[in-house]
Amino acid sequence: MRPTWAEVRLDHIADNFHYIKGLVSAETKILAAIKADAYGHGAVPIATRLEKEGIDWFGVALAEEGIKLREAGISMPILCLGGFWRLDQAKDCVNHQLTPAIYRRDMLDTLASAAQEAGRAVAYHLKIDTGMGRLGITMDELPTFLEHARRFPNLQMDGVMTHLASADEPDKNEFTKFQLANFQQAKVMLTNAGFQPTFHHSANSAGTFNWPAAHGNLVRAGGLLYGFRDATAPEIDKIAVKPALSLHSRIILLKHVPANKPLGYGNSYLTKRDSLIATLPIGYDDGLRRAYSNCGRVIVRGSFAPIVGRVSMDLTLIDVTDVADVQLGDEALLLGSAQDLTITAEEMGHMIGTISYEVTCALTGRVPRFFLNQPDDKPIC
Ligand SMILES: *Cc1c(COP(=O)(O)O)cnc(C)c1O
Repeated sequence: MRPTWAEVRLDHIADNFHYIKGLVSAETKILAAIKADAYGHGAVPIATRLEKEGIDWFGVALAEEGIKLREAGISMPILCLGGFWRLDQAKDCVNHQLTPAIYRRDMLDTLASAAQEAGRAVAYHLKIDTGMGRLGITMDELPTFLEHARRFPNLQMDGVMTHLASADEPDKNEFTKFQLANFQQAKVMLTNAGFQPTFHHSANSAGTFNWPAAHGNLVRAGGLLYGFRDATAPEIDKIAVKPALSLHSRIILLKHVPANKPLGYGNSYLTKRDSLIATLPIGYDDGLRRAYSNCGRVIVRGSFAPIVGRVSMDLTLIDVTDVADVQLGDEALLLGSAQDLTITAEEMGHMIGTISYEVTCALTGRVPRFFLNQPDDKPIC
C-alpha cells in the first residue's frame, strides 16, 4: 500500500454526538446525517459506533446508502432524505425498513403500491418546502397533498420535516423565522386534517446550535458530528466539537533544486532559492483538489510546508527547505493536528472557496480509512 491514508477517530465522533445531545432537551432525538458515506468519513463504522453510543436515527440521501447500512447490521431507524424516484426504489425502502421523505404527491401512489406488495403499512416523513426552494411540498400545495394522503390507509405519515436554508447566517435570521413560521402553520394544517406525525423536525447542525425553536423532537446533525465548526457559524469559537478525520501521506522523494527552476506541470512555480523539494504520493484523484496548486500547505516535523507547483493526479510537491532535519519517509499531515499545528477542513475549504463539507466529501475511495477507537490507536502506514 502506498503511504497515503486517512484516520477517522470514532471516539471524537462519539464525543461530538454527546456534545450535540447536550445542546437539545432530553426528549429530543438525534438523527446522525451519514449520507455520502458519512461526508467522506465512512458510514458503516460510524453508524456502528453511534448505535453503541445511543443514537436514535440515521439519515442517508439514497436508498442504496441505507441498504448498505442494513447489510452491515445497522438496526436503528433510517430516514432516506432523498426519498425515491421509481417504484423499485420505493420497494427497496420498504424491504429494508428505510423511511422515505416524501416531497411530491405522486410519491404517495408509488409508496402505496410498494406497501401493498409488502402486505403491510409503511411509514414516511412528509417534507415541506418552507423556503429552501428545494425538496418539499410547498405551502400552497399542502392542502391538496393532504387531501390525497388521506386516501392511503396503508401509508402512515410518521414525521413532518423541513430544511432551513440559512440557519448559520445571522444576517438572514428573518428568513429563518419566516421558514419556522411556515413550518408551524404547516403543522397546524396537518393537525386540522387529522394527521398526527410522531416526529417533527427542521434543524440541521446550524439549526441545532443556533435555533432551539427549530429543534422539534428530532434534530438532524451532520457537520457538528464530524467536528466541522463552520457548520454552525457565527459563534464558531464557542463550539466544542472535535474534528474526526485526518489525512496523511509520506515523503517518497527528496530533491535539491537550485534557484529559478520550474516545478511540475505548466511550470507554474519557480524556485526562489536553493530549495529542498519533497514528493508526496497523493493527488487530485485522492481528493486533494487541483485548486490547492501553489496555495495549500501540509505539516511536516512540526512545520508548515507549502504545496509548490500544480497538484497532479497522483503526486504533489511540497517545499521542505525550512523543515529541520527532514527525511525520506517523513509523515506529511494534510488535514489534522500534529504537535501544536493544525490544518482544519474549514481552513482547507476556505482556501479554495468552499466549505469543510466539500473537503472531506472529496476524498475518494482510493484513500484507505483507518477507524480508531481511542487516542493511542495508530495504524501502521
Ligand atoms: C445533510 C442534511 C442535514 C445535515 O446537515 P448538517 O449541516 O451537516 O448538519 C440535515 N437535513 C437534511 C435534509 C440534510 O440533507
